[in-house]
Amino acid sequence: MLFRQLFDSQTSTYSYLLADRGQAVLIDPVKEHLDTYLQLLSDLDLQLVMALDTHTHADHITALGDLREATGCNTGLGQESQTRCVSFNFHDGQSLAFGGRELRVLHTPGHTHDSYCFLLAARGRQPAWLFSGDTLLIRGSGRTDFQNGSARQQWSSLQRLLDLGDDTLVFPAHDYKGWTCSSIGEERRHNPRLQVANAEEYAALMDGQHLPPPRLLNVALAANRACGRL
Ligand code: FE
Repeated sequence: MLFRQLFDSQTSTYSYLLADRGQAVLIDPVKEHLDTYLQLLSDLDLQLVMALDTHTHADHITALGDLREATGCNTGLGQESQTRCVSFNFHDGQSLAFGGRELRVLHTPGHTHDSYCFLLAARGRQPAWLFSGDTLLIRGSGRTDFQNGSARQQWSSLQRLLDLGDDTLVFPAHDYKGWTCSSIGEERRHNPRLQVANAEEYAALMDGQHLPPPRLLNVALAANRACGRL
């Protein structure tokens, strides 16, 4: 399997390219990097079959619409999303196939009500890989104070991710400190957001954050409801 982690330095967003047997998936692609993605797909001789967003992003504009226009790929967002221009809406428990592999879809609300994670199952010696969106970040978790966010729901979602097993690798949608990858076991032990006893304590921790709104909030949400094609 082929794997590339791509980074948008303006918004500290990670996008992921996965491919197997010539079929590729892009997770959380950023509009400004469309040309890079198209070049990479061409260089590596890959057919893009799916472009997926883990949730409706508030901090950057998605490349879903542009990628569909340029490649004819299917675009997907969770069924709770308000965005109507994607090719399909995924839901919890679904499997999304590419090449000989598949991503299992996990609904993990809390950061937004349409937040999802994608799990690539373990194979041979390779552990499972979790694309954790903004639900689980490295030594952090996504804010829960807008877009129908809920700290209590996020607590439940995080418990579900912790059940995936300590070896599972974690690839988040953002990192602001230079981390690139972690594991469930590492986060269980060292993520400060996971050192609280219950949902109430977690909600108190999250409610005490008082973060400023993202710089591009209104621009990004309006654009992303049009699949980034404004
Ligand atoms: Fe987000």
